[in-house]
Amino acid sequence: MSTESESSQKAPLAPGMVIGPDGKPCRSCTAFRSFAGMHKKKKPAGTSDGSAAAGAGGFAAATALAMTTAPTVETDPPRLPADCPPDVERLGRHTWTFLHTTVSYFAPQPTPHQKSSMLGLLNALPTLYPCGSCAGHLRDYMKSDPPERAVEQGREALELWLCKVHNEVNQRLGKDEFDCATVPQRWREGWPD
Ligand code: FAD
Repeated sequence: MSTESESSQKAPLAPGMVIGPDGKPCRSCTAFRSFAGMHKKKKPAGTSDGSAAAGAGGFAAATALAMTTAPTVETDPPRLPADCPPDVERLGRHTWTFLHTTVSYFAPQPTPHQKSSMLGLLNALPTLYPCGSCAGHLRDYMKSDPPERAVEQGREALELWLCKVHNEVNQRLGKDEFDCATVPQRWREGWPD
């Protein structure tokens, strides 16, 4: 006869759930709603036995909080509370904001120091980005389309390069392609009235 902890270890992963290198559910590689799905299957609404939180390292407990406070419509996905560690989507959204904004303020004719600083930032991402699977995809992409030439050419070329990088991720995730001609409006100038 299997114990409760053995059976929860063997439970199939929720769709979209990514396991990190430590063998535990990876917060920064998984959308919060995947944890929420795991949580919902394990517990009837309104009960709290802590078993799901054990598997998700507290993420599911935050889901329970979000499910009781955030959704306004029954079909709304639960929202990750603002003070929780980021899931793959929040991490991505905030990282793109930083990267696109930084690139949009890059000098049109950068100095050697600005070029090497920018290359240091971009080339560190495949090593340091906290979602390992995202970092792996980025590494592969940057091998086929490295940023050196765009950095050398300055802001406009780099805006286009980063837009292409982001569009590759959009495409892989089944999202719409972003119109790269609108990058300056989206990230620096604002849209015309
Ligand atoms: P986001 O894709 O986060 O975009 C934010 C905003 O940027 C959009 O609202 C739009 O206004 C603007 N935008 C969109 N596309 C472009 C573009 N091409 N150029 C300029 N601006 C644009 N998630 C995964 O599930 N798997 C992955 O492998 C993965 N890899 C990632 C790799 C990196 C380097 C980063 C930074 C994120 C990655 N993500 C990945 C997260 C993913 O890209 C999204 O950030 C996340 O799914 C949230 O998406 P979103 O719809 O809120 O908009």
